[in-house]
Amino acid sequence: MSNYQAVIGLEVHAALQTRSKMFCGCPIVDATLAEPNTSVCEICTGMPGTLPMINARAVEYAIRVALALHCTIAEASVFARKNYFYPDLPKGFQISQYELPLAQHGSLAINTPQGQKEVRIRRTHLEEDTGKLTHSGGHSLVDYNRSGVPLLEIVSEPDMNSVDEVKAYATKLRSLLRYLKVNSGDMEKGIMRFEANVSVRPRGSDLLGTRTEIKNLNSFRSLTHGVAYEIERQSRLLDEGKAVKQETLGWDDVRGETYSQRSKEEECDYRYFPEPDLPPLILDQTYISQIKSSLPELPDAKQLRFTHDYRLSPYIASVLTAEREVADYFESTIAAIPSLSPVTISNWLSGEFFALLHHSGQAIEETRIEPTAFARLVALVSNDTISTSSGKVILSEMFETGKNPEKIVADRELAQISEPSEIDRLISHILESNPSQVSQYLDGKITIQDWFFGQVMRATQGRANPTAVRSCLEKQLKEIKDKPSSE
Ligand code: ADP
Ligand code: MG
Ligand code: ZN
Repeated sequence: MSNYQAVIGLEVHAALQTRSKMFCGCPIVDATLAEPNTSVCEICTGMPGTLPMINARAVEYAIRVALALHCTIAEASVFARKNYFYPDLPKGFQISQYELPLAQHGSLAINTPQGQKEVRIRRTHLEEDTGKLTHSGGHSLVDYNRSGVPLLEIVSEPDMNSVDEVKAYATKLRSLLRYLKVNSGDMEKGIMRFEANVSVRPRGSDLLGTRTEIKNLNSFRSLTHGVAYEIERQSRLLDEGKAVKQETLGWDDVRGETYSQRSKEEECDYRYFPEPDLPPLILDQTYISQIKSSLPELPDAKQLRFTHDYRLSPYIASVLTAEREVADYFESTIAAIPSLSPVTISNWLSGEFFALLHHSGQAIEETRIEPTAFARLVALVSNDTISTSSGKVILSEMFETGKNPEKIVADRELAQISEPSEIDRLISHILESNPSQVSQYLDGKITIQDWFFGQVMRATQGRANPTAVRSCLEKQLKEIKDKPSSE
């Protein structure tokens, strides 16, 4: 174990996927599909004399998230100008919230190997996104489609102490945003971006060390690699008796290194002041309660309910509730055939079914298998109509073709042979055709039983019910042994 403990706080920027932008009516377009500068107007390109208007839907989305994070929501919050110049920021300032943010003092529970851990949320506030610069061959291009897209910034306290905790936090937050339907979580579209503040301190110390801030971490991979790199780099500096310099770092995904961008700007450099063109954002309690009562059941509550109602382990319950669509699929399957064991369904879903989704890159809502068909497949295995291994073959065919499980069983003649008289007949036949193995058995070679078992399974191409074969075989061999010799 290293001599140092890592301390990490995250700032997450999540786009709120409303129809229009934060302060104008321009539609929000998919950055990976739209032509540059096709969704812009005087307001989001910062023309003089234009006035912003607050997007009510963006406020509602922000409140949903703030409530889900157990934050206290301010009755009055204030938009502020954060002044700086950059070509992707046409107004010369960004409208954000500063002294009076929308919400504060929340928490998010994450799963760690040591159990659940609460990461405190410092604040959650609304702001607008900037445009996007593309640098190529000695010049730069700017696209203002993203300029003015509503962003929610979610700032944690420095409560995470490992890369795994950072990953658990980011994953849980993404899952929450998806449940709330405010952000699809498609990281490659740049709609969720991370900044990680990292410091290290000697183990046992409760003082905070000097931190660095890593900008533009746009995937889980760069987030975890960037944080791991910084922990390592800072620990080495301290080991060498050197000091960590407080600075802003960039992350080079290709080289897998952080690099110095600038020494950290002070807050006063931005000359924050209240936005004179916008009134304070006043929220009344009734409105907030309405939003609260419209929230869906969230992952933590669902997980708890799944462990209680369906007797799933906390781990499986967390796997099945990470995505709302998966949880819904699971419950639709149960509803289709209520007599099935939920634990058996959960095993098939999180095992075979997830593997098929994973290999194909499909999301569960895209699958051709209806929950009712999936339930019938699990039932066919549970009532011994087909073997577990046939069940897997059939599921994969259902996945490819969307066919009914019953049809596949019939077409492929996969129905399991469980009828005792049929199995007895098969075994008699095997015993009669292998007299020398039978006499080996009578001479005391008990293990030859397994060989007979294998012959029956081979003759039926695995379709004989193994438990039934074992017991019938035992019975017939015992009869032969007990029979008084006729010679
Ligand atoms: P700024 O707004 O200048 O980026 P803040 O003080 O608001 O700075 O902190 C931003 C983030 O940095 C928060 O997520 C906070 O938890 C984290 N943070 C603050 N101090 C430390 C530290 N010493 N080590 C790690 N993270 C820190
Ligand atoms: Mg910061
Ligand atoms: Zn606009």
